[in-house]
Order: sequence, then C-alpha cells, then structure tokens
Amino acid sequence: MEKIKMITPVVEMDGDEMTRILWKMIKDELILPFVDLKTEYYDLGLLHRNETKDQVTVDAALATKKYGVAVKCATITPNRQRMEEYPQLTEMWKSPNGTIRSILDGTVFRAPILIDAIRPVVRNWQKPITIARHAYGDVYKAVDMVTEEPGECTLTFRGESGQEKTICVQKVDGPAVWQGAHNLRKSIRSFARACFQFAIDTKQDLWFSTKDTIAKIYDGEFKKVFEEEYEAYRAKFEELGITYFYTLIDDAVARVIRSRGGFIWACKNYDGDVMSDMVSTAFGSLAMMTSVLVAPDGTTEYEAAHGTVTRHYYRYLQGEETSTNPMATIFAWTGALKKRGELDGLADLSAFADRLEAACLDTLNAGIMTKDLVGLVDDPAKVRAVNTREFLAEIRARLEA
Ligand code: NAP
Ligand code: MG
Repeated sequence: MEKIKMITPVVEMDGDEMTRILWKMIKDELILPFVDLKTEYYDLGLLHRNETKDQVTVDAALATKKYGVAVKCATITPNRQRMEEYPQLTEMWKSPNGTIRSILDGTVFRAPILIDAIRPVVRNWQKPITIARHAYGDVYKAVDMVTEEPGECTLTFRGESGQEKTICVQKVDGPAVWQGAHNLRKSIRSFARACFQFAIDTKQDLWFSTKDTIAKIYDGEFKKVFEEEYEAYRAKFEELGITYFYTLIDDAVARVIRSRGGFIWACKNYDGDVMSDMVSTAFGSLAMMTSVLVAPDGTTEYEAAHGTVTRHYYRYLQGEETSTNPMATIFAWTGALKKRGELDGLADLSAFADRLEAACLDTLNAGIMTKDLVGLVDDPAKVRAVNTREFLAEIRARLEA
C-alpha cells in the first residue's frame, strides 16, 4: 500500500512519562504504517529540556510559528517533588505550555470527544461544547491587601506622559479587603481574534459572556473589543451561516445547560477556569478532552488536556501492562494532520485523519474501552476493558478495514 505523502512538516513535541510511551505506540501502530510522516522533532522530555536549559521549548515554539502546525505530548512541569525525583535538574523549569503560550500569544480551546455509550450528565447535550478560555490577567494577575482601620482606598494610574487618573474605590468604617486587577487591550484583542477564527475553522457558533451590567467599564471593554473585532469576521460568519452571540454570564450558564451543544463558549480567565471543569466533568473524562492552542495568526498547537499520567507510568516501569486511554493524544495527532492537510491542500492526509478518528470511535462504540471509561458507561456489562496495547490494535484493525 502506498503511504500518504506530506509536504510541510508538522512540529512534533515529544514529552514525558506514560504519554511519551503512548506517543511512540500511536506513531508506530496508527500513523507510520499509513503516512510518509514528515515532522520536525523536538524532545521536550524533562531531561532534554534540562540539558538545553529549556532552549528546546523556545525552539519548538518558534518552529511552530514558522510552520503553523504542531502536535505536543504532555510534559512534566517540575515542582519541588520532581526536583528530588530528578536530582540532575539544574533549575525548576517553567511549564512548557506557559512558555509556548506566551510565544504564540494563543487562546486555549478545549472540547470533549463524545461517544454514544457515555452520555453526558446533561442529557440534552448532543454535541460537544468547546470552552475558549482567555489566558491572561484579571484575578490571575491581581494584587490584594487587607486593612484594619477606617479609611479610604483609591486607585491611581500614573501615565508615562505624567498624566494621572485617580478614583475612589471605597470609604470604609472598619477592617476591609481589597483587590486591584487589570487586563491589556492587546491581549483581549488577540483573544477575540482567536475565538472568531476558531469559530470559522470549526464552523460553529461563538458565544461570549461577561458581566458587563455590573463591571460596566471592565467587562464592557471586553464586550466592546469583541464587537470591534467581529466586524472583520462578519462576512465570513454570514457566508458560513454561523453566528456571534453575546450575553451575560448568568444567562449563558442557563442557556448552556438547556442547549444541545455544538458551539464555542468564550469565557474570561476565571469564568473559563470554572466552566471548563464543569463542562468536562459533565461530558465524562479528562482522558477524552482535546485541547488546541490557537494564535491570532492561525498558528495551531494540538495536545491532550490531561497530564503525563504518572501513576500509570510507574506501573509500566514495573513491567505491568496499563490501560491508559490514548484517545486525547490520538486526536491531537489527527487534529494536527488534518490542519496540515488543509493548509497544504492534501485532501488524502485530512481524509486519513478523519478515518483514524472514525476507527477510534468505532472501537469505543463496539464496547472496547480502556478502564477509565468503563465506570462511565450506562451498561458496563456490554463493555470489554482492554489494556492500551490491545486498544490500539483494535483501532488499527478497524483503520485497516
Ligand atoms: P494527569 O497526568 O492528567 O493524571 C491524573 C489522573 O487522571 C491519572 O492518575 C489517571 O487516574 C487519570 N488520567 C489522566 N489521563 C488519563 C488517561 N489518558 N488514561 C487514563 N487515565 C487518565 O495529572 P497529574 O497526575 O496531576 O499530573 C502528572 C504530570 O503531568 C505532572 O508532572 C504535571 O506537571 C503534568 N501535566 C502536564 C500537562 C500538559 O503537558 N499539558 C497538563 C497537566 C499536567 P488513575 O491513576 O486513577 O487511573
Ligand atoms: Mg482549574
């Protein structure tokens, strides 16, 4: 059988622990036999990041900017415990995802993979709901303080031009707690662009919610920037028959629960943090959540939403077979290959990615699953729990058929 050809490489970022093991298995079983794979490989495994003083992460992000499409394996973000586990580490390296996100200036979109056997807790959700979370500012970069006596708190901005602006936050007659938060118009604009572009790429409606009736100026700024940016995308939205819809966050929550799914819900940083956990839990499992970072210029980096599955890795090191769910990592690959296919006009590459996704879904729909999913199905008696190797073999058999 002739392998599918590629033109431009996909930037491949290898990672750590169990997902690194999955990475190789997925490539060997499901991609290399069918595709004449072209990648530019970056080893983001913790020890290689350490050897290169994390330069490899920066290089991988720059390569992503250059080529436009990347696929990333989950990676360890070192903490104190990891510093003990890996005594050769010369520094507590920062989160690679954070480094990549700041270089690409992207927005993270997370969407669940749905199968018939696992029904969302919210029974009317028939299609995935994608959360787009703004990843800069607000309470995540706020300053706080406590005061103990009566007095007045003011907020002052001192411009480089020498101009000053001061407002009274509140006069209080006793102990109080305070917070100063900010966001950048540039960052809000990038967020808006990434959301509109993603809606176009995935042909889904875009919802955006804030609380601008209360935070009239702060959230009002978000609403205004989105409205301004929408003008550049309006024609494309109308052509595709998709809509941009702004509403208050509390109204959005009610509508999301009553909806059938199938749209993107753009959220401010804190709202996105909270709502993405609610949505992913209601849909089922982190092992079935895909994640893609989209930059304002359309550059994309695909990954799984979960981490390196450390507990399974330790069992793997003991020689045990594990039942680690490879779905989100496979879908990171198919997402990247599909995108590369679109950009390079390689219909057969995109079609291969679709077939691989279909083979995965067929396997799950046949009741063949990794252990994490068994507890989520309505009728566990109809399901056969398999280990990762068996699961991949079942997918491959369906892909070949
Ligand atoms: P995790 O790797 O997502 O795993 C947490 C638990 O969730 C696992 O122990 C497992 O539960 C279950 N799980 C997650 N993915 C699964 C899968 N594919 N199949 C089956 N079960 C799965 O999170 P963590 O243990 O908090 O973090 C481990 C490492 O990952 C950390 O070093 C962290 O820095 C890193 N991390 C990286 C990323 C990233 O690169 N994007 C994201 C998050 C975390 P059971 O053990 O009960 O089976
Ligand atoms: Mg959170």
